[in-house]
Amino acid sequence: MDPATLPRIDPDTLRADFPALSTHVYDTTVAYLDNAATAQKPRAVIDRISRYYESENANVHRGVHAMSQVATNAYEGARAGIGAFLGVDDVGEIVFTRGTTEAINLVASSWGRLHLHPGANVVVTEMEHHSNIVPWQLICQETGASLRVVRVTDEGEIDYEDYERALAEGAALVSIVHVSNTLGTINPVERMIDDAHGLGVPVLVDGAQAVPHGPVDVKALGCDFYCFSSHKLFGPTGFGVLYGRRELLESMPPWQGGGDMIEEVDFDGTTYNHLPHKFEAGTPHIAGAIGLAAAIAYVRGVGFDTIQQVEADLLAYTVERLGDIGGIRFVGTARRKTSVVSFLVGETHPYDVGSILDRLGVAVRTGHHCTQPLMKRLGIPGTVRASMSFYNTRGDIDRLAEGVERAAAMLS
Ligand code: PLP
Repeated sequence: MDPATLPRIDPDTLRADFPALSTHVYDTTVAYLDNAATAQKPRAVIDRISRYYESENANVHRGVHAMSQVATNAYEGARAGIGAFLGVDDVGEIVFTRGTTEAINLVASSWGRLHLHPGANVVVTEMEHHSNIVPWQLICQETGASLRVVRVTDEGEIDYEDYERALAEGAALVSIVHVSNTLGTINPVERMIDDAHGLGVPVLVDGAQAVPHGPVDVKALGCDFYCFSSHKLFGPTGFGVLYGRRELLESMPPWQGGGDMIEEVDFDGTTYNHLPHKFEAGTPHIAGAIGLAAAIAYVRGVGFDTIQQVEADLLAYTVERLGDIGGIRFVGTARRKTSVVSFLVGETHPYDVGSILDRLGVAVRTGHHCTQPLMKRLGIPGTVRASMSFYNTRGDIDRLAEGVERAAAMLS
């Protein structure tokens, strides 16, 4: 893409919104290319969280005093904003969690205990993050159900015929990743949901790597559950969201007990709060919700059109620059991808390349990226992964390419 056609945002102004992008590592400014692990936070988010702790801090829901009401309004207002971001009007369908991992554990534990039994299959794919594998393994061990793992092609796409076979064999639930954190592959979740629903099978979508890169409307998708983590969407860590269709959430038992999730407690029995509070035991991460809502407002301000245009340019430029270096093997060449580039440099170990890049101030991730089964499927120990966000520049990619070239020369 010709940089002249890029949207009219001033990259320097935009980068100035993210203080951590000015961090010095060793003797240089960091080139932060580890956004799939966690994204940097704009000043607007940092300030909003500080304001909450400086002048609004109080526990939510239970207080009659003014500060508690301010905190409750901010917290529940955040839920409405987060719901709107996902295309959801009914705030009862927006459950707050500690992140994607906890959201999947919630569904596995609550929905799974209700519906799984010997002979029932949970369908996942070879490209799942560990957090969309292990919770299902745990509940399968408990209930006698099985995992049915759909194959991934050498290019890093779902083998759709195998998916259709998995559905035909009988599935209790499909749990799939929207965008692969290791490969960047954007999966055809609309089609996968339609095909599963055609057989009456509910679908959970792990959207951890999707929401930072494009708009997601869960109602248009039609999925039954959708989850993501705040920290990959420029919000605080330790916070995340589970969307669930009301009908399903209503039918599911609570998964953790404690304050706030109850209506009435008696030693003879307890009745539970209405949605979404039935699934939110204990004092929540109030600043997390408020911070995520601020992050979403920031993202909306930049706009997904701009984000997608900038990231498409960075993806193409990364592939071009790295492709010019001899001996690079790209891992994950799906037709539809986000701005994630995984690669290997000749016979070198990803860790060695990552360490050399680190000394040059280029932050990338190396290893299995919490997708060990995918690494086994591809027959590799891990990859070097550069994951770009809209605040990265071609200059960051130039530093990456120069570093990789140097690493290739040093390690060969
Ligand atoms: N799913 C995917 C695709 C991810 O990339 C990640 C994190 O890297 C997770 C799930 C887990 O997210 P968290 O650790 O924020 O719960």
